[in-house]
Amino acid sequence: MSWREKPLQERLAHALIKGITDYIEEDAEEARQFLASPLKVIEGPLMDGMNIVGDLFGEGKMFLPQVVKSARVMKKAVAYLTPYIELEKSAGASSSKGKILMATVKGDVHDIGKNIVGVVLGCNNFDIIDLGVMVPTEKILQIARAENVDMIGLSGLITPSLDEMVHVAKEMERQGFKIPLLIGGATTSKTHTAVKIEPQYKGPVVYVLDASRGVSVASSLLSDENTRSNFILDVKKEYADLRTARGDRKAVKKYISLDKARKNKLKLDWSAYQPVKPSFTGVKVFEEYSLKELSQYIDWTPFFSSWELAGKFPAILQDEIVGLEATKLYADAQQVLGQIIEEKWLTARAVVGFFPVNVINDDDVQVFADESRQEIIATLHHLRQQRQKAPGQPNFCLTDFLSPNNNDYIGAFAVTAGVNIEERVQYFENQHDDYNAIMVKALADRLAEAFAERMHERVRKEFWAYVPTENLSNEALITEQYQGIRPAPGYPACPEHTEKGTLWQLLDVERQVGIQLTDSFAMYPAASVSGWYFSHPESKYFGLGTIEQDQLEDYAQRKGMSIEDAARWLSPVLGD
Ligand code: SAH
Repeated sequence: MSWREKPLQERLAHALIKGITDYIEEDAEEARQFLASPLKVIEGPLMDGMNIVGDLFGEGKMFLPQVVKSARVMKKAVAYLTPYIELEKSAGASSSKGKILMATVKGDVHDIGKNIVGVVLGCNNFDIIDLGVMVPTEKILQIARAENVDMIGLSGLITPSLDEMVHVAKEMERQGFKIPLLIGGATTSKTHTAVKIEPQYKGPVVYVLDASRGVSVASSLLSDENTRSNFILDVKKEYADLRTARGDRKAVKKYISLDKARKNKLKLDWSAYQPVKPSFTGVKVFEEYSLKELSQYIDWTPFFSSWELAGKFPAILQDEIVGLEATKLYADAQQVLGQIIEEKWLTARAVVGFFPVNVINDDDVQVFADESRQEIIATLHHLRQQRQKAPGQPNFCLTDFLSPNNNDYIGAFAVTAGVNIEERVQYFENQHDDYNAIMVKALADRLAEAFAERMHERVRKEFWAYVPTENLSNEALITEQYQGIRPAPGYPACPEHTEKGTLWQLLDVERQVGIQLTDSFAMYPAASVSGWYFSHPESKYFGLGTIEQDQLEDYAQRKGMSIEDAARWLSPVLGD
């Protein structure tokens, strides 16, 4: 049956799904004319609708969840109409503002932010080619060439991706690219873009803070020659200033030698300290953990920030500005979460382990096979702060929280809530439903963090049982009012990601629960969390800060790595 033969009602219902209908019903005659040609519907109300949504978002009058939901209406409508377009083959393409290739770089797996930027740019008439996650440089550049794209957008979550982005920029220069390079994602910053990436590539390089900025940046870069070159000049000047400012600031900070830093370590009184012995040593695996139980432990605040709604949960639901949207988003989330639990869309698995340990050479930890403390099965390598501290302030290293008397223990964990997630995400993507695809990813991330929280609680109360009587609310857990910490490799106290390799080996993580490590030591599935357990009451999180050449060399030697390799892994904490 051709488009024209379908009953008007049906055409309206399918093509114009919610929202769009209001727009067109104002003038029945206009509606009839539009509906005589599916191409006119796409190029008329759908494109207009997208533009309005894009503008409102840009003006801060509409919030991200609304944008993504509107985009879903448009995408579904376009998908429905497309088969009816026979003569007018080039539908939609003609009005595209430009083609943007987006990719999460090699070794990195997170893409919620990138998906969101893609959807928002799509609403603003940009054509998006999303290559997904873990995309090698060669593939990015090859497709950029083949598709003749107007710009490339790179995304990354973990620190090794910063280096990978520098590599992409170098390759673009070497291969003679001229198109703009956009940089975004949790680990990136304007400073890093200015200091490390921009100097590698002569074409425009622009840091994009979030989805709402993406549109104005992309639009400026693809506007008339005058606006475009002014924008590029402004950015280049801003980044040059940033480099200068950074150079000036660095000179002010004082650092001490590794030797001195070690002498100024945190000196706890170990004389009367009796480490608690865990209820077991070795590992314990949880095959299919109750998602319902985990859902009680969710920290909702980061969920709202992943949708670019700022504010603390539950107060955000009453917020004057975002409260209404936050409430709707929360209701949708509850509904999807219910389905995840009831219909088993995801599987949660964990492995935890405890090991007898001893500290050696101040900053390393020998891990023993068993209580006899004879056989060393691994050595953990930690890093020590080297900033000159105020008198009385120690130079911290995580090893300072372990007894130096060869009688202590360390714990380790890896949890995931992302098993089977691809299937569900694919299902929604096939339905042109980015909203729910992103929702499932965001909830899986929340469940993984909740799992880490719940497992840590059970460790303190049952498995290591160093505070068996603890009784804390979820709020108290979120604000970390418990004894002990669970520092995660890649985070500020232990920023070097390859240590995850040792954790994987100790817990046999990949075989036991199926979480893999990528080339950059990112965890796949993305909805996974891992770390160490420290039980000492004084243990706390700190930031390593910048380290000096002497520690780089010492660390390389301890790890059995070349200095060059160590410098690459440590680049986020090395000065310039
Ligand atoms: N409630 C939050 C918990 C995650 S963020 C959520 O649901 O997202 C806090 C975690 O990050 C900590 O448990 C720890 O694993 C890690 N972390 C925070 N600061 C750290 C630091 N300085 N060094 C190492 N790990 C850190």
